Amino acid sequence: MSSSSSTNYSQYRGEETCKCGRRAVMRTSLTVKNPERRFLGCINYKKHNDCNFFVWVDPETCPRGLEYARRMQAIKDELERQVEELKMMNEGLKRGKEMVEEENDALVVKLADLTEMNINLIASNEALQAQIEGRKKFGKSFFLGENHSSGSPIVCCLCDWCACVKPLP
Ligand SMILES: [Zn+2]
Repeated sequence: MSSSSSTNYSQYRGEETCKCGRRAVMRTSLTVKNPERRFLGCINYKKHNDCNFFVWVDPETCPRGLEYARRMQAIKDELERQVEELKMMNEGLKRGKEMVEEENDALVVKLADLTEMNINLIASNEALQAQIEGRKKFGKSFFLGENHSSGSPIVCCLCDWCACVKPLP
């Protein structure tokens, strides 16, 4: 663009014909060097069959305008950098979330196991509690429970031949 930037913009008469014979197209440059500066170019500008016709329509951007464009570009670059950072952070958070969910699933399974274990312990604690209560009532003879129909206690005297002996839960 440096070779053609010397072209006098005042030559523009409202319509220009390309080197390729077609009508030139007006576009706006948004580069930091030529911000918001209109130019005429080939209809195939920057494509493989560009005839390389190029002429500025607007005068060169003033120094203040150039400084403003530089600052805007710096802000844009910084914002794009921050967007990239946030994208990476978001990816990290997604991975963290997946890990936490996996851990949670494992803990749910563990909790179910512990709940079952707890239910069993409560049952065996109740059985032991009943043994203690039975011992209080019936002395040294071994309380094994209550007869479901009669409600009378089933006790074992702990003799070697006693048929009522059964293993503790
Ligand atoms: Zn052309």
